[in-house]
Amino acid sequence: MTRPIQAAIHLSALQHNYRLLKARAPRSQAFAVIKANAYGHGLVRTAKALAKADGFALLEIEQAQVLRELGFKLPILLLEGVFEPEELTICAEQDFRIAVHNEQQLAWLDEATLVRPLRVCLKLNTGMNRLGFVAERAPELVDRLSANRNVRSITLMSHFATADEPEKGIDWQLARFRAATAGLDLPVTLANSAALFDYPETQGEWVRPGIMLYGSSPFAERSACNLGLLPAMSLTSRLIGTQQIEAGAVVGYGANFRAEKPMRLGIVACGYADGYPRHAPTGTPVWVEGCRTRLIGRVSMDMLAVDLADIPAAQVGSPVELWGKNLSIDEVAAAAGTISYELMCAIAPRVPMVAE
Ligand SMILES: *Cc1c(COP(=O)(O)O)cnc(C)c1O
Repeated sequence: MTRPIQAAIHLSALQHNYRLLKARAPRSQAFAVIKANAYGHGLVRTAKALAKADGFALLEIEQAQVLRELGFKLPILLLEGVFEPEELTICAEQDFRIAVHNEQQLAWLDEATLVRPLRVCLKLNTGMNRLGFVAERAPELVDRLSANRNVRSITLMSHFATADEPEKGIDWQLARFRAATAGLDLPVTLANSAALFDYPETQGEWVRPGIMLYGSSPFAERSACNLGLLPAMSLTSRLIGTQQIEAGAVVGYGANFRAEKPMRLGIVACGYADGYPRHAPTGTPVWVEGCRTRLIGRVSMDMLAVDLADIPAAQVGSPVELWGKNLSIDEVAAAAGTISYELMCAIAPRVPMVAE
């Protein structure tokens, strides 16, 4: 028997989540964000599942080329634009849309000789202070791009830092965006998953949902289930050992879990080398043989221990879900002090991934 760990990708869940977002943003087109190997779900399988999307957004031009070679004709946006001027030639040939966020990219666009002009998203920094031009430069930059023979259309783009935090919200950035772009009659793309849900006024011509497609909640305080999302990934394994330990016995590296009373443990074939977070503490939820239980002790490279005190039916071979349909990835992420994005992206290459 092969090692029992596996990540299953639920294609119908991806499709359900895409339909849900379209219902939430009925007047917008959507770039399904499939960067980082589709948040760990696999670029090609995710793109195929979402073939009816209005467009895709990702980072690497090589990945965009893979999609074109497979016959995807829909709009593809490179979220960080090009990293060297030669890539503009490919963008023109393959009809990739590009973000333009710095002076160097503007200069490359001025100097290029292309087979046809490009659709560009002018990325404005409205306060996140990561990528983008100072928002107030929008009129000047739009003039410059409009005069550029290599530019076919301009969409105004910005990104929100706190759309997932109700107290902070997006007004501080949206107000600045609106003031800076007043009078420019151009399409806009602003909303990530959180903004799309909570601030319909940000939806504009194009939305850019990522995490919600994968069935995870963008909000710390609201569950994916409550938002109507279905999990697109289940990470499952099996018990490969059990231990009966005495009161006072310790478990795992560091010996920092000590049993208060005699108890039974299960050992799961899943460790941090599979992408399970090593910092998940004792108490992190795990689903074993149909029951919810807890992680015990430190996560090892290839294994972790779970409490079987209340699951007498569990034995070697019993099914385990680390996250998925029975246990939300958001709960596991919260227990481990991180977010679902990081867990999805961290699934290790050694974990077999299957679509279903
Ligand atoms: C990753 C990303 C998104 C998607 O964000 P989610 O929170 O996953 O919805 C949208 N826009 C940009 C520019 C991004 O980098």
